[in-house]
Amino acid sequence: MADYSATIRENYQRVLEKIARAARSVGRRPDSIKLVVVTKGHPLEILQAVVAAGAHDLGENYVEEALPKIAALTDGEITWHMIGHIQSRKARPIAEHFSWVQSVDILNLARRLDGFAAEIGRVIPVLLECNVSGEETKFGWAAWNETRWPEFAAEIAPLVDFPNLEVRGLMTMPPYDPDPEKSRPYFEELGRLRDFLAVRFPQTHWSELSMGMSGDYEVAVQSGATLVRVGTAIVGPRQ
Ligand SMILES: *Cc1c(COP(=O)(O)O)cnc(C)c1O
Repeated sequence: MADYSATIRENYQRVLEKIARAARSVGRRPDSIKLVVVTKGHPLEILQAVVAAGAHDLGENYVEEALPKIAALTDGEITWHMIGHIQSRKARPIAEHFSWVQSVDILNLARRLDGFAAEIGRVIPVLLECNVSGEETKFGWAAWNETRWPEFAAEIAPLVDFPNLEVRGLMTMPPYDPDPEKSRPYFEELGRLRDFLAVRFPQTHWSELSMGMSGDYEVAVQSGATLVRVGTAIVGPRQ
């Protein structure tokens, strides 16, 4: 127990330091980046150690796995981020139990989240997950072809007006590559897409860019990430 708690604490601190260093290397303030610790595939004890290490933001991918963890971890103020692909029929428990939904990738899901949020009287901050690489296995709005961004904007136009969702920005996951530099063009593309949407929808906040995982979060921070989603580098490999 003491073992893995100490390791998680060290890992967490090391990642925070690397985020700060990457931020300063491009003239950004380290506190403009939020670290979301991704805990999918790990048991409750690990999450408790993560919280004890100082984390406030936790990310989970699967609603069935997350709900018992959310129910059990009541101490401290945890912001729960849904970051995994969501089937529309699972929208209700997500609207009820998650603070943020980063993986909104289709209009029907957004509409259902908005409806359930209205029922319980809350406004959910959401990110639009975008596929800027064209990789076929990735979820997300098709946004790899800049000439089609106007169509993309038209598609999401109803979404930005849903009263119980508050669009805060974009999320992406580039193709896996052991070389983090390979992710940089995709991170920069997400920033350009954000700028494009901010002109189209000036009444919406587009300030958040969720990008960067264990292998490439420093490059993501240099490219403008405001949220990084780091699992393995803090909590080790998943079971
Ligand atoms: C699992 C996952 C992460 C974390 O990945 P690591 O490589 O373990 O840091 C980040 N984002 C999403 C969407 C994930 O599914």
